[in-house]
Amino acid sequence: MPPDTCPNCGAPVPAGSKACPECGSDEETGWSDAAHADNLGIPDENFDYEEFVKREFDQEGSVPRGVHWAWWLVAVVLILVFIAFWFRWG
Ligand SMILES: [Zn+2]
Repeated sequence: MPPDTCPNCGAPVPAGSKACPECGSDEETGWSDAAHADNLGIPDENFDYEEFVKREFDQEGSVPRGVHWAWWLVAVVLILVFIAFWFRWG
C-alpha cells in the first residue's frame, strides 16, 4: 500500500498508484530519493542482453570460423528431432 503522501517529496500519492507521481519513489525503492535514482538506471535485463549480443558479435569478429559449426550442429539436431517426431506420428 502506498502512503497518502510521498515520504520523499511530500506530494499526494493517489490511492492505487504504485509510485509517487512527483518523484517516482515507490514501495520497492522504499519511498526514498536515493532508491529512485537507482530505479532510473534499472534496465538490467536489457543491459545483459545487449552485452551478450555484443560479446557474441565480438567473438564472431575475432574468430570468423568459430561460431558457424555450432549453428550447423543446432540445425542438424533440430532436423533430427523433427524427423523423429514425424516418424512417430506417421
Ligand atoms: Zn515523491
